[in-house]
Amino acid sequence: MTQDDEKWMRMAIEVARSKGSDPSTSPLGSVIVLDGRVLSAERNQTEELPDATAHAEMMAIRRACEGEGELELRGATLYSTLQPCGMCTMASIWSKVGRVVYGAGRDDVHPMYFEARHVDTLGFIADAYRNDIVIEGGCLREECAGLYYPPDADLPKEEQANL
Ligand SMILES: [Zn+2]
Repeated sequence: MTQDDEKWMRMAIEVARSKGSDPSTSPLGSVIVLDGRVLSAERNQTEELPDATAHAEMMAIRRACEGEGELELRGATLYSTLQPCGMCTMASIWSKVGRVVYGAGRDDVHPMYFEARHVDTLGFIADAYRNDIVIEGGCLREECAGLYYPPDADLPKEEQANL
């Protein structure tokens, strides 16, 4: 993890906060960077569109591919304020980003933000048919975790968006 990583993660946090910081709306931010150039910076837009697949990372991958006019984002790094879900991890593998860096991990936030059953995204990467992609967590972990409900929050069912 480098100072540049923290710089880009700060941008992802700003994007996550861009529509308010209510943890019930799952504020997520994702930024894709290639050679010091921002290809995309997106927030999750599942409610607005509405589109169940419009996670921040998915939106960032779509915008980056559109902007570059490329199917593949080789050499790029995808930053996400929260550990990517199974879908977004697979999308990262398909889009050929070289590196995924996330802030808060699964254990740093309330379980409502993840699939009910544990999908080990680190395992996805380890078993991926590519050996040129890495995933690293814990970049600005505490600032990122601050965007979400803590692991032990006692939430009413209707607040728990993913259940
Ligand atoms: Zn996702």
